Amino acid sequence: MLKKPIIFSICIQFALAVGCADDAPKTRERLITKQAELTDALPIIFPRANSVDCSNETSHIDSGEIFSLTQYQVTPDSIIFNNMLGSPSIQNSIVKNTRIGSKWQRECGQLNEHNGLACKQSGTNVEINFLLTETGGLLQACDRVVDFPRESPEAVAVTTAHYLEESHQTFKRNFPELKLKQVELEIFPIFESIFDFFYKPEERQTTLGYYDANNLAYLPNQQKIAVYPVKEKSSVYLWDSRFPAWHEMAHHIDFATSKRYRDCSIGINEIGSDSGHLSRKVCGAEAEALADLLAFATGPNLEDHLYGLKCLDALRNIKDGTFKNTDTKVLNNNILSYFYEQTGFNLKEQTHDEDAFGNQVRTCERPDYREIHTLGAIQGHHIYALSMLAIRAFNIQSELERSDFLYKTVVRMMRRLNKNYRNIPLQGLGRIYYVFQNVINQTIKQSSLNPEAKQALKIEICRKSRKQIQDVGFNVFQNWCSN
Ligand SMILES: [Zn+2]
Repeated sequence: MLKKPIIFSICIQFALAVGCADDAPKTRERLITKQAELTDALPIIFPRANSVDCSNETSHIDSGEIFSLTQYQVTPDSIIFNNMLGSPSIQNSIVKNTRIGSKWQRECGQLNEHNGLACKQSGTNVEINFLLTETGGLLQACDRVVDFPRESPEAVAVTTAHYLEESHQTFKRNFPELKLKQVELEIFPIFESIFDFFYKPEERQTTLGYYDANNLAYLPNQQKIAVYPVKEKSSVYLWDSRFPAWHEMAHHIDFATSKRYRDCSIGINEIGSDSGHLSRKVCGAEAEALADLLAFATGPNLEDHLYGLKCLDALRNIKDGTFKNTDTKVLNNNILSYFYEQTGFNLKEQTHDEDAFGNQVRTCERPDYREIHTLGAIQGHHIYALSMLAIRAFNIQSELERSDFLYKTVVRMMRRLNKNYRNIPLQGLGRIYYVFQNVINQTIKQSSLNPEAKQALKIEICRKSRKQIQDVGFNVFQNWCSN
C-alpha cells in the first residue's frame, strides 16, 4: 500500500526531470498527484480528537509533556496547555487555530519535461497557486483519559504549536515593541496537482501518491503553517525537531514584518530572470537564508536538533562551513551560473544516486546548486560567520546574548529588505550582503567600541566577506570597505 506509490512517483518524477528517454511515453492521460494521506504514511490509524468528549471543562488537558529529539537523547519537555487546548481547537498565543485534513488543488495543464512536477502559469515563470478546495475540521485534544501517541494528529499539533510558541517568545523578548500576527496550523493537509500527462500504458494509473513534498511548509498567502505526514529519509519526522518549526515561523516573521513577499515568494523552484525586479528564485534563496539564520538564533545549540534529519543536517547547519561532500560554502561564478542558468555542473553526478530499482533518487550528501535552500544555506553560513566577528569584537559571552544578537541582526535585515527593497542595488544574490553590511554598520556605529576597534572590526568583516563571495563580483561592500 505504501511502497508502490512511492516507487511509482519517484520513477515518474525523475524520468521527466532527467529524461529517461527509453521509457518513452505513448499515451496521454490525466494524472493527479496527491499528497500522502495519514493512513498511507503512518502504520496505524490513531484515535482522532473529534471522537473524544470535549464538551465539559474538566475534559480539557491543562499540562503535559512533549518529547523533543536532540543529538543525544529524546528529551521530555514539560508544557502548560493553559489556554492552548481550549475550544474550538488547539491554540496558543501564536496559533489562532488548528485544522486537520484540508485540501488544496491546482490545475497545471501539461507536465513540462524539463521542470518535472513544476507547475507554472503559461508564458510566465510564476508557479500556480494551490486553491483551498476543502476546509479541514478543527482539531481538538481535550480528553484527559486519552493518551495521545507520538504519531497522532493531536500530538503532532501540540508539539508543533509548542515549538511555534517558543519561537514567538524569542521574538517578543527581542522585539517587545512589535506585534506578530497569529498563524493557522494545518495538520496533514492534502495538496493535489492535476496534470495532463504521458504515461506508460502498462502502468496505467491516474492517481499518484506524491511523497516528495515538504514536511513542513509556510503558506504566505494564507499565513498558515502546514505539517505533512511525510517522514524524512532517515525515518525521523521533521516535527520531532525544533528546527523545522522555528524555520517556518521565521518565514512568518519575515512575512509579517514585510512588503517583500508581494514580489518575492518562498519555496519557488524555478528559473526566473531579473526584469526590473529580483527573480523569484533569488528571493527564495534570500528568504531561506534569513529563515535558517533566524531559526538558529531562536534558541541555543539548535544544531543538536538537526540530528537524525539527514537531508537537513547535511545542508542547513549554518555554523558548518562545508557541505557533507566537503564542498566549501562559498559563492563563485560556477555555482552562480548553475543556480541561474543550470549550466556548469553535471546534475546527475552532483545530486542523484540510483536506488535498487535503477531509479534516479536525490541524495542529501551532495548539494544541489540549482536549489534555493542550498544557496540559502551558503548565504546563511556567510552571514552567521560575519556576525560572529562582531560578537567576538563586542565580547558577548553568554550563549543567550549571542543568540539574541544574531536574532536582532536578522530581523533588522528582514525589515530593511522589506522597507527599502526597491532602493537596494539589484545584485541578485548580493542583496543580502548589502543589507547585512547596512545593519551591522549601524550596530558598530552605535556600539561602545573605541574608534580603532570599530575600524578593526570593519576591516575584518570586509576581508572575510571578500573570501566568501570569492570571484562573483558583488560590489555591495565596496563603498563601505573603501573608507
Ligand atoms: Zn523555508
